[in-house]
Amino acid sequence: MERRKFLKNSTAVTASLISVPLMASSLENAKRETSNNGESKAVRPIVICTWDFHKASAKAWDVLKDGGNSLDAVEEGVKIEEADVDNQTVGVGGRPDRDGNVTLDACIMDKNGNCGAVLAMQNIAHSISVARKVMERTPHVMLAGKGAEQFAYEMGFEKTDLLTEKSKQEWLEWKKTSKYEPIINIENHDTIGMLAIDKDGDISGACTTSGMAYKMAGRVGDSPIIGAGLFVDNEIGGATATGVGEEVVRTVGSFLIVELMRQGKSPQAACEEGVKRIIAKNKDKQDFQIGFIAINKKGETGGYCIHPGFTYRTYSEEGHVNNPSESYLHS
Ligand code: ASP
Repeated sequence: MERRKFLKNSTAVTASLISVPLMASSLENAKRETSNNGESKAVRPIVICTWDFHKASAKAWDVLKDGGNSLDAVEEGVKIEEADVDNQTVGVGGRPDRDGNVTLDACIMDKNGNCGAVLAMQNIAHSISVARKVMERTPHVMLAGKGAEQFAYEMGFEKTDLLTEKSKQEWLEWKKTSKYEPIINIENHDTIGMLAIDKDGDISGACTTSGMAYKMAGRVGDSPIIGAGLFVDNEIGGATATGVGEEVVRTVGSFLIVELMRQGKSPQAACEEGVKRIIAKNKDKQDFQIGFIAINKKGETGGYCIHPGFTYRTYSEEGHVNNPSESYLHS
């Protein structure tokens, strides 16, 4: 279903369980744990991602169930959305900035705290893979704009036209009024943030987006900013965000959530506190969407948002589930 309609009909969102046949042998090393209070079961390997990106979570799960590591899982998972021309907020097909250029933001973080990011990069489809190369092949964490693009070519990535006819036509229509007022809760919040724990219990995360539609040229949101759009601490857990990046940056949201888990909060409680920090800074104006998801070392997960309509996928041996997120506001 088209995201816009989906969000408008958000009250109709229901949890869906798709039964998934798993090969027991490939999960030999999977570990089941029970939380301290003995009530909630936790399991790994597991992957969690923002929104109902079921193909992406399925791809990541394929990597994990075959014994692959969490870094490969999150990269392969989010690449599905980067390649999907119908997803207008990630990778190829993303909506352009106000000048008609599609610019991509992405970051990735591994179990050792290594990270890499690309900001406002044009003409390369798989920004997450370039971010990984930044992490693995350079002494830097972030490359931006032309420098990121040049680096991508040096690493063998191909030049790709990211602007699809559909996104171009919508942009031309938008230009007639050029109102820089995205309809915040229903227009452009399909950033994919993904967190995974592999059979060894190691956590990695990835986040990739084309950012806010019709943004100012050069605008960068939270998604490629380590600590804001994504943070992983292999001792504790990970968190990632979708929504209005400026607000997530102001509270360093994903880092905050991981630190709250370090202090003992569950992933769910930590996500709720993360959203409430943002609300506290916007007491008079809450007409925007933020969604956080988090996972702890045991594989327990949580998600929380401002407005109803946000969902997140989990995939483990327990099944492949689209979880409606609880929200701070209710319609
Ligand atoms: N967080 C992204 C950004 O601000 C956009 C989104 O998730 O809607 O660029």
